[in-house]
Amino acid sequence: MMSETFECRRCGKCCEGRGGIVVGAKDLARLAAHLAVSPERFLELYTEEMGGKAHLLTGGDGACLFFRAGFGCSVHPARPDVCRAWPFFRGNIIDKFSFEMAREDCPGISRACSHSQFAFEGYAYLQENGLLGSDPSRDGRALIVGRHELPREEEPQPETGGTASQVTGKLSR
Ligand code: SF4
Ligand code: SF4
Repeated sequence: MMSETFECRRCGKCCEGRGGIVVGAKDLARLAAHLAVSPERFLELYTEEMGGKAHLLTGGDGACLFFRAGFGCSVHPARPDVCRAWPFFRGNIIDKFSFEMAREDCPGISRACSHSQFAFEGYAYLQENGLLGSDPSRDGRALIVGRHELPREEEPQPETGGTASQVTGKLSR
């Protein structure tokens, strides 16, 4: 994704660590088709079960099995929704401090953009791509960050009006 606020540098920092990438049903179908294997075979070859969910395996370098140094994600067109949603995770959209921390870790987030710009663009991106429920801070139909919870159908519609702070304010109710 290229934008005013984010352009991936393919550094792979967000692809590091074990157990971070859950493979949902939609992800499984897309990844298996991309690699021309059955979903069962994909699970067998590329995932491990943790907490009742399939997670992508990591390689010897501690990064996701599909990450290639100098290239990036080798399954990019079929990558899981959680990878598509990053860095526009709900916490980064509603909380400036989380956004600043994400920016320290991810060199793809613009050093010049404001949190409001990031929030506006991120929310629109998630909405356009059907990714509003695709980050680890969400659970089922409810949107949960800390003590905040909002039924999904009450999500704000930024394009129908409202400032960036109103968007993030509504999201953090
Ligand atoms: S940390 Fe940021 S720039 Fe690096 S691969 Fe992940 S999204 Fe791209
Ligand atoms: S699927 Fe691709 S984007 Fe996601 S963690 Fe693995 S290498 Fe990174």
